[in-house]
Amino acid sequence: MPLSPQRAVDELKELRELTSDDSGAQRLAWTDTWLRAREWFAKKLAELPVEHHYDSAGNNWATLRGASKKSLLIGGHLDSVPNGGWLDGSLNILAALEVLRRFASEFNGRPPVTIRIVDWADEEGARFGRSLLGSSAFAGTHSISSDRARTDRSGIKLEDALRHCGVEIDRFAEAEQERKDAAAYIELHIEQGPVLERLDLPLGVVLGTKGVERHIITFHGQEAHSGSTPMSARRDALAAAAKLALEIRDIARRHPDAVCTVGSLKTFPGIATAVVGRCEATLDQRDLDPRILARMYREAQEASHRFAEEEKCTVEWSRLWSIEPVPFHTELLALCEQAVREVSGSFHRLPSGPLHDAAEVSRAGIPTAMMFVQSLRGISHNKIEDTREDHLELSVTALDRLASKTVGWILR
Ligand SMILES: [Zn+2]
Repeated sequence: MPLSPQRAVDELKELRELTSDDSGAQRLAWTDTWLRAREWFAKKLAELPVEHHYDSAGNNWATLRGASKKSLLIGGHLDSVPNGGWLDGSLNILAALEVLRRFASEFNGRPPVTIRIVDWADEEGARFGRSLLGSSAFAGTHSISSDRARTDRSGIKLEDALRHCGVEIDRFAEAEQERKDAAAYIELHIEQGPVLERLDLPLGVVLGTKGVERHIITFHGQEAHSGSTPMSARRDALAAAAKLALEIRDIARRHPDAVCTVGSLKTFPGIATAVVGRCEATLDQRDLDPRILARMYREAQEASHRFAEEEKCTVEWSRLWSIEPVPFHTELLALCEQAVREVSGSFHRLPSGPLHDAAEVSRAGIPTAMMFVQSLRGISHNKIEDTREDHLELSVTALDRLASKTVGWILR
């Protein structure tokens, strides 16, 4: 059975038919629709000479035993956000399935190294607000003791939703056992941004995932009557925050791949007839280079103090979340570049702004590489998410090439 990229696209459509409605994909993790997607996938696996099991964190593993125990892992996620797209996470899995079929047939069920597909549990974190849940269990970076009490919108506890799917939180950390013999990890994903489309390239090599600094910045001024307070006497907390919201754009623009976002501004008392006494802004900064990230963070802090002073306010910072940049494996990136060039004639290297399971795997010390395929209009997490079918097929072929090259690298 030779590689059939067309079949991967057909199966993606089949999955879409089974798990979407008029608003988009509904494979929210730990729900019945997600379980239905996994059952559907299990039926596909049943036709192959593979062992299939769920680990103690709910990650879904298909293992094709090879002559060597050393394993090549190919990952993705069948879960989606609510009203999501048909490709995010699923393309990876269906492309990996096609690669697995090719290995099984070419080597009569016994390839030179063990090949494993992993469908990570709850990559999106859309229901309980904790992304990369399953892969963090695998990597040993999970925070399940603090996450267990999280609830979804209808008040259901994370712990109970997991139990509904056969996952016991107290055994969550045992998923680390799956790291045994893992020699390399590769992942194909849609880009979810506009970079490759703008360059008119189907495929890209992902350098790593950007580090993130995420903070709440609170400006304190003086709440005052909007009619009686002269302009010269105001201590307007919103004015200081607004200056910062504009300044962070210049802070980011000094670096080619950096991004900074003020995504939320809350004003208090938040009425038309009062000068803003307190303003809370969120700031999200990302770059692949830790020095650039640190510099942008420092510059934003300095700017916030300057604007607070100009507006006769004070400012305080509190960290919401942060993660260091995760660069992928240099030698595997070179193989990824070769694969992309062979299949599409050219390649582009780019960092990933969104986090991916690949970052968790890489943090666990497993050599990792990732490939992007172009997203139309750069839109994702939405039902209009799309990629040209010829590009989807190219991406399956490129992943297959990368898998073969990586097997050779494991055996070197
Ligand atoms: Zn994804």
